Amino acid sequence: MKETLSITTYSDDSNTNEEIELANTCPICGVALSPDVISGVLINYEDEEDNKVFLLNYCPKCQECFISKHCFDEENGEGYLFSSSSPQTPFGNDWGEIIANISPSFIKIYNQSVFAEANNLDQIAGVGYRKALEFLIKDYLISKATDQIQISNIKHKFLGKCINEDIDNPQLKIVASRAVWLGNDHTHYEQLFDDKDISDLKRLIRLTVHWISLIKETEEAESIQPRK
Ligand SMILES: [Zn+2]
Repeated sequence: MKETLSITTYSDDSNTNEEIELANTCPICGVALSPDVISGVLINYEDEEDNKVFLLNYCPKCQECFISKHCFDEENGEGYLFSSSSPQTPFGNDWGEIIANISPSFIKIYNQSVFAEANNLDQIAGVGYRKALEFLIKDYLISKATDQIQISNIKHKFLGKCINEDIDNPQLKIVASRAVWLGNDHTHYEQLFDDKDISDLKRLIRLTVHWISLIKETEEAESIQPRK
């Protein structure tokens, strides 16, 4: 939905009323809201379709300001549609206590990758997600290891080999191996999975997290025994 706002035209400093679709989420705190618009400027071109509007928005929730960009609504021939806002701040995923205990490195690397992706560094983000996945799986296997030799083996082995040889649970084995396939695609020169992108990799990482959490929770449940 568009709102009528009085904004300044950049070329001649005149005021103009424009119908503008506002940002519906604050890019800093992630809260859905209708921001307070502090000021706005219309950059106008000879061809009206190239016009852009920039707004300075105030978020009452986090009490910070962000800038939003709005492009001419070509379909309706008037007004401006929301295009993007910045600064984009990544909102850390809550992976739960089990994952936080097993692999703090996974959470850190994953969140940094989210930050890269939010800033359009998609090539870096893919490599980051792949690295996060490696820490998640290796830290999980290390958490199950019973001696130092096993731990050292896991640390030095290729990730694919760890998954094949050291993961017992069949579901976890499937999702982790597919995640590694897609993850490796982001690090290799030649891509093998043209039709898969970063969101597919993230979905498989999420599945891997779920299975690890389930396995750990099931193990905890198994340890509940009646008093003899
Ligand atoms: Zn905010």
